[in-house]
Formats: sequence, C-alpha cells, structure tokens
Amino acid sequence: AVVTRFAPSPTGFLHIGGARTALFNWLFARHHGGKFLLRIEDTDRARSTQPAIDAILDGMRWLGLDWDDDEVYQFARADRHAAVARQLLAAGHAYRCYATSEELTALREEQRAAGKPMRYDGRWRDRDAADAPEGVPFVVRLKAPTEGAVTIEDRVQGSVTVNNAELDDFVLLRSDGTPTYMLAVVVDDHDMGVTHVIRGDDHLNNAFRQLALIRAMDAVEGGWPDPIYAHIPLIHGSDGAKLSKRHGALGVDTYRDEMGVLSEALSNYLLRLGWGHGDDEIISREQATEWFDLGGVGKSPSRFDQKKLENLNGLYIRAASDERLVELTAPRLPFEASDADRALLTRAMHALKPRAASLNELADAATFLFAKRPLSLDEAAAALLDAKGSQLLGALHTRLDALPSWDTEALEAAVREVAEAEGVKLGAVAQPLRAALTGRKTSPGIFDVLVLIGRDESLGRIADQLA
Ligand code: GLU
Repeated sequence: AVVTRFAPSPTGFLHIGGARTALFNWLFARHHGGKFLLRIEDTDRARSTQPAIDAILDGMRWLGLDWDDDEVYQFARADRHAAVARQLLAAGHAYRCYATSEELTALREEQRAAGKPMRYDGRWRDRDAADAPEGVPFVVRLKAPTEGAVTIEDRVQGSVTVNNAELDDFVLLRSDGTPTYMLAVVVDDHDMGVTHVIRGDDHLNNAFRQLALIRAMDAVEGGWPDPIYAHIPLIHGSDGAKLSKRHGALGVDTYRDEMGVLSEALSNYLLRLGWGHGDDEIISREQATEWFDLGGVGKSPSRFDQKKLENLNGLYIRAASDERLVELTAPRLPFEASDADRALLTRAMHALKPRAASLNELADAATFLFAKRPLSLDEAAAALLDAKGSQLLGALHTRLDALPSWDTEALEAAVREVAEAEGVKLGAVAQPLRAALTGRKTSPGIFDVLVLIGRDESLGRIADQLA
C-alpha cells in the first residue's frame, strides 16, 4: 500500500512550495487509495514555533489536504532516533568521533585551501574507542560505504548516481546526544511506513546519505526497504530565480487573506505548477485525484505566474455559488455588514462576480452598493461629468423620474430613449450615469446598478451630481 507524507519544518508560514509538495503527496496517496501522513519537523527548537505549526495545519485544512492519523511531531521522537543510532553503533555501522571542533575547522580550512570539497575525513572511523581522550565529547557518525556508487531511480529526476567516495561519514547524534535531521527523517519515514518520498529537489543530495543510513539499518535488523523517491523541481519566480521573499507573497495565508484567492483556485494553480495532464488547465480535485501520477511531473523548475493565478481565481469565482461568495466577501467590506447589507450583496453577486479576479476585487466592486450620499467620485468618474456629461445626466434624471416602474426593461427602454433623443450612443449616456451612481468608471452593467440601488437612491445620486 502507498504511504506518503508531508514533512514541513515549522519555522514560518506554509509557503506555496510546501503547499504544492503537500498537494502532490496527497494526490498520489489518494490516487492509490493509500495514506497521506503529516510530520512536523520541529527539531530546530530555536526556530520552530507554535504559530508556525498552527499556520501549517490551518493552511492544509483550507486547501482540503486532510491527513490520515494524528500528525507526528519529530522532536517528541528524539529517544527513538537515538536508540537507532545506538543500534548502529552496537552493530559496527556507526562509530564515535572525538574530533574537536578546532580540529574540524582546521580540516575544513585545509580542504578549502586545496580547493577540495569539504568533507569529514573519517579520522575516527577505524580507531579504537580505547584511544578516546578522557572527557572529550563525541558525536556518532555513520560508517558509510566508501567504495562503489549509489543510484537512485528517482520518479521525477530519472536515474541519478553518486559515488560513495563523495559522501562522508555524516553525523547521526550530536555531542549533546540529540539526533540530526538526517537521522530523524530516516527513522521517522521508516516507522511511519512511508513508501514514497515526494519532496523538493533541494533534498536530492540528502537522499543519497539517507539511503546509506536506511541500508545500514536494513543490514542490522532487516525490514528497512529503500523508499521510492520523487524529487520535484522547486518553484521559481517570474524572473527565473528560485522563489524567495523578494518575489512577493510566499505564504498560503497571504493568498487567502490578503489577495482573496479561493482555495480551489490556488490548489488548481499549484497542481498545474509542475504537473501537467495534456493541455488541461481547469482541473477539479476529483479529476486530479483520478489523473495524478509522478510521470506527469516536469523535470525543470516551473515559474510562478501571478497573472495565471488571478485568471484561474476569476474562473473559480464565477463558478462559485452566490451564497458562498457573500460569506467570503462580506468580511472584506470596510464596515460590519448587517443582515440587510448581506441581502443586498447576495442580490448583487451575479452582477459583480463576472469581473472579479479576487475576493478583494469583489468587495471593492461592491462598495458602491453601500456608499452614502453624496458619493465622492474618483478622478476618472469625475472627468465623465463634464458639461456634456452633466447635460445628459440631467436629461436622464427627468426621464427616469417619470418612470412608473423601476425594472430592467423599463429602465433600459428609458435610457435608450434618452440616448436617441440626444443623438448619442448608449455608452455616452451610460458613462456619466455610471459615474453618478457608483463614483467609478467601471461597474456592473448599468441596468443592474439601477435596479440594485433602487429608485430613490438612484435618483438621489443623480441629483447630487446635478446640484
Ligand atoms: N523538513 C524538510 C523541509 O521542510 C523536509 C524533509 C523531507 O521532506 O524529507 O524542507
């Protein structure tokens, strides 16, 4: 059975690269009817925080990435990690290294000066523990193979080989007895029964070391199979450089809260960022679950494209129900929305949603509904009320004021009549009217606007501009 996991370090928000890794793991597990597990890698005590953990869990829930079983907290498993190191030590697959930090610094200096890669040289590998200096702290290192090569048949990167001579005897336990990241990941993946390790390709180098550790444990006690690896290319910014803070928002919460992106839009966008299924752009979660495979993951980094995300978001906004959009938009209005405000917003939603690329735009486009007279016009709207515009507005006021009923048909006929009588196109009358009614140059269709704000308010807003 397939078991995947997402293993974030809670040192910040859930960033979009992490969210995509989580999504791919989730889809792969669900596609195969397997399990998707969550492990919080909180061993860096100085940098791991509870707010970061909460942000990760919250972001995953928001994206609909439910995990099986309780999440695993890595720090709590330190004793188990240390026990594995002791097992390796007892079996001769690991050893105590008493090299002091001064010694190791000198070694690195030497290697640097000689232009050699900086690696531990195995100076305690074959020494007798009896040589150990009194009272000097030690670290535990893996006795890694020195000859031959390791090949990983990575599901995304293809076949990747590293000579064992290039790897060193890395540290499993620090001198204070705490496990290293390398040890913790391997032990946890094993104990959680992880079959497929799908993660960013910044971890590909680690995979060779991790595999050496896995194979050592397999030799010691058996039952430590190689996992299947899939290292996904990282996300780059639109300029082609690795995605960083410089490129703007990175946290999933920012896309949700500040940009007003719908969960399914971000999810669809992240799916397409590095994975493809023909030319399909709009892919539902159900469809993605059915189609997802590692073969569809591209080998080159994908570029984050804000515009594409906005387009997708607009599509999902149009597909969303008016009720849901009201729920999401009302809190974004610049005031506390009453029940009556919500009712008005609900009636307006069908007219607002075709033009919005985000929930923020939706809230912003809705403000005219709640504006208090006299409206303050923005510059572009004010410019529409020049002499000609005001004259047309005057004619409109007279005509609309005489209307017996205030419905779309009657309004449309009346506005057309005015345009005809004044010898101008419909747009030429609609523009000053829109400016007076909404304070802006763009808005939903003018007849929708008239109906939504109603007779008295419409006539009042027009009159305000004529005064
Ligand atoms: N905690 C690591 C990270 O956040 C991931 C480790 C892994 O996936 O093996 O980059």
